Amino acid sequence: MDDLASRLQAVDERIAAAARGAGRDPAEITRIVVTKFHPSSLIEQLRELGVADVGENRQQELSAKVAEVREPAALTWHFVGQAQSNKAKALRSLASRVPLVVHSVDRPRIADALAGDDEITLDVLVQIDLSGEPGRGGVAPDDLGHLVDHVLTRPGLRLRGIMAVAPLGEEPAAAFDRLAQSAARVREIAPEATWMSAGMTGDFAEAIAAGATHLRIGTAITGNRPARG
Ligand SMILES: *Cc1c(COP(=O)(O)O)cnc(C)c1O
Repeated sequence: MDDLASRLQAVDERIAAAARGAGRDPAEITRIVVTKFHPSSLIEQLRELGVADVGENRQQELSAKVAEVREPAALTWHFVGQAQSNKAKALRSLASRVPLVVHSVDRPRIADALAGDDEITLDVLVQIDLSGEPGRGGVAPDDLGHLVDHVLTRPGLRLRGIMAVAPLGEEPAAAFDRLAQSAARVREIAPEATWMSAGMTGDFAEAIAAGATHLRIGTAITGNRPARG
């Protein structure tokens, strides 16, 4: 617990320093702690340390942890893994129990599967591919406008912004510059979609410099992940 607290504090200090260095207010940046593969007890510990946002990358694990932790609705849950149509209904129904943001809408079919005309409003981000390699997750930049238009027509979805993962083998700052340009295109179509989800353990300072509003940080805070269960 002490180690966890000190790692969390150290990361928050680095976030604040990077924000000030970029002329930004640290308070406008949301730090999501990615807890994938860790037990739900870690989420309880994080909450005692004041963490309000946690991230998971598999629907079953997310659903299990929402069922396990006390007062799950006191946290905002972020689904950052690849979205699959056959998991979409489960995600949508989770959003009736807890605040949930799905970061990985990368094709019209996923938007269709997550949509619904029940009373739920599900917050979503469109995920863009910065690697140029199809299949890595994310919509190709050329198809971004079409996907945004499509998401906006679906009932029960609220488009909040854009998400990306920096590709391996490229300077993150260069990739995040392209992300910032795509984020501006999204805001031209949907001015209220102002979120930019980017930045992980290895590159969150660069993401902050490029304008990220939501950081997804795992190992720098949690320590190494246990083997995939
Ligand atoms: C696991 C994961 C993270 C966190 O990665 P770290 O390098 O441990 O900080 C962030 N984003 C996504 C999409 C992930 O799957």
